[in-house]
Amino acid sequence: MGLAESSPDLEPSLNVSMSAESSNLPVLKALFVSTSVGPLGTGMGGGVELTLANLAKALQLRGHLVNVLAPMDSSCDGLNIYQVPGQLQSTAQAQGRAAKVEMPADAVIANLWEQARQMQGDYDIILNFAYDWLPLYLTPFFETPVVHLISMGSLTEAMDCIIEQTLDRFPHCIAVHSGIQAETFEAIATQASDGIAHFSQRCTILANGFDLSRYQFQPNAKAQLGWVGRIAPEKGLEDAVAAIAQTQTPLKIWGAMEHPDYWAEIQQRYPDAPIEYCGFLSTDELQQQLGYCQGLVMTPKWVEAFGNVAIEALACGVPVISYGRGGPLEIIEDGLTGYLVEPDSVEGLVGAIAKLDRIDRVTCRAQTEAKYSLAAMGERTEAWLRKSLV
Ligand code: UDP
Repeated sequence: MGLAESSPDLEPSLNVSMSAESSNLPVLKALFVSTSVGPLGTGMGGGVELTLANLAKALQLRGHLVNVLAPMDSSCDGLNIYQVPGQLQSTAQAQGRAAKVEMPADAVIANLWEQARQMQGDYDIILNFAYDWLPLYLTPFFETPVVHLISMGSLTEAMDCIIEQTLDRFPHCIAVHSGIQAETFEAIATQASDGIAHFSQRCTILANGFDLSRYQFQPNAKAQLGWVGRIAPEKGLEDAVAAIAQTQTPLKIWGAMEHPDYWAEIQQRYPDAPIEYCGFLSTDELQQQLGYCQGLVMTPKWVEAFGNVAIEALACGVPVISYGRGGPLEIIEDGLTGYLVEPDSVEGLVGAIAKLDRIDRVTCRAQTEAKYSLAAMGERTEAWLRKSLV
């Protein structure tokens, strides 16, 4: 195994240095270990890719150093990435609760963590972004503290079990994106001196933060709706298309094509729906196109941990219609920034589409600025990391 990038930059970013200097707290040197299901920049890693980029930027803006270990062929503007070879992990979404931990030959996740082990002496903290058993299991074997940002809700018993064991040993080492995501791990509970401490009381809820300067507010929409996400069954694209077959509003679809058979089936089922698959775009291109939509439709069939795309749409002034399930429940203010619809109700989606013009696009943008800025995310993340270092 070898690294494609060999000259590490171990100087903290000097462009802006806020809290670390102003509060006299030491600058943090953080090593981010990316998801092992795909290279950064391909969309195979889902929302984790943008989350990693946002979090790195949020910490850099506070004067901290961030370097990244990621699978070979990763790219992300402004990040120092060490490219690590090896076979990708398969995704956890569709494996079932009893799924066993699997490891391919020459697994990239094993190579990433071997590399992290070798480099750990240069860093104060290591942040894991993979929803995978191995990094959690390895936590006690590292000398440098390892913390984990869990990107999905509870999916398998093996993950629940290793999260619980790791949390018992390292009380501040786990963060999640939303309270609703935390609740899916409710089986994880610990006997504390004053009773039972549930998972949602023991993890850190980070939400997410975005570089809102990258998202342009678009006051004028065209007669079209948007749907953004991996083309995968847990995202429920078929329901959005069923609604569009009724309303006949053109629907633009953006996202990584994870399941081509699933996409072919949807097209066959709704031959008259005015839908167009527009590929996987960079954030800059995506926000430009998305901004012209009257609304974004989200149809999660699972408990979405957060839902980055909801914030991205709102940042462009685009209201969001979503099933009232998972992260979007904490993001969308019903009637103000979009509509929360009864889960799995296509009729509900149709009704909400008809009311989209009642939502003020300026309010949508203002809500993202108030709640999801990079600065606020940086503050929350730094507080979590420092707690983990004590
Ligand atoms: N995305 C993108 N380009 C596209 C479509 C999607 O960059 O053309 C990104 C989007 O910005 C978001 C991610 O794909 O960060 C999807 O993340 P989300 O949290 O909505 O769902 P996940 O895939 O993690 O379940």
